Amino acid sequence: MSPPLMLSPSPPSAPPVQVPTNYTGCETTIVGGGAGGLYTAFRLVEDVGQPAASICIFEADSRIGGRIWSLRNQVCHTRPPKSRRER
Ligand SMILES: Cc1cc2nc3c(=O)[nH]c(=O)nc-3n(C[C@H](O)[C@H](O)[C@H](O)COP(=O)(O)OP(=O)(O)OC[C@H]3O[C@@H](n4cnc5c(N)ncnc54)[C@H](O)[C@@H]3O)c2cc1C
Repeated sequence: MSPPLMLSPSPPSAPPVQVPTNYTGCETTIVGGGAGGLYTAFRLVEDVGQPAASICIFEADSRIGGRIWSLRNQVCHTRPPKSRRER
C-alpha cells in the first residue's frame, strides 16, 4: 500500500480537499509538508526504518513543499558582474 498523504482542511482561499478519516495506520503524524516535515519523514524511513505507510503528513495547503518553489526559465545571477579590470 502506498503511503498516505493526508491533507488537513484547507484555508478558506483554497479549494476544499477531502480528508480521509478512516485511515488508522498512522504511527507518526507530521504537521506540515514543507522541507522540515518531508525531511523528518525521510529520516524516519531511512534511519529508523519506520514503514513509510505508517507516517502521515498533514498539509494545510493544496500542494506540498511549503515555502520552497521552483523557478524555471529564469535568469539566475549567481556571480557578481565582472569588474572593469576583468573585462
Ligand atoms: C523568499 C524566500 C527565499 C528563500 N530562499 C532560500 C534559499 O535560497 N535556500 C534555502 O536553503 N532556503 C531558502 N529559504 C528558506 C526555506 O524556504 C525555508 O527554510 C524552508 O522552506 C522552511 O521549511 P519548513 O518546513 O520549516 O517550513 P515551510 O516551508 O514554511 O513549511 C511549513 C508547511 O507547514 C504547513 N502548515 C503550517 N501550519 C499547518 C497546520 N496547522 N496544519 C497543516 N499544515 C500546516 C504550511 O502550509 C507549509 O506547507 C527561503 C525562504 C523564503 C521565504
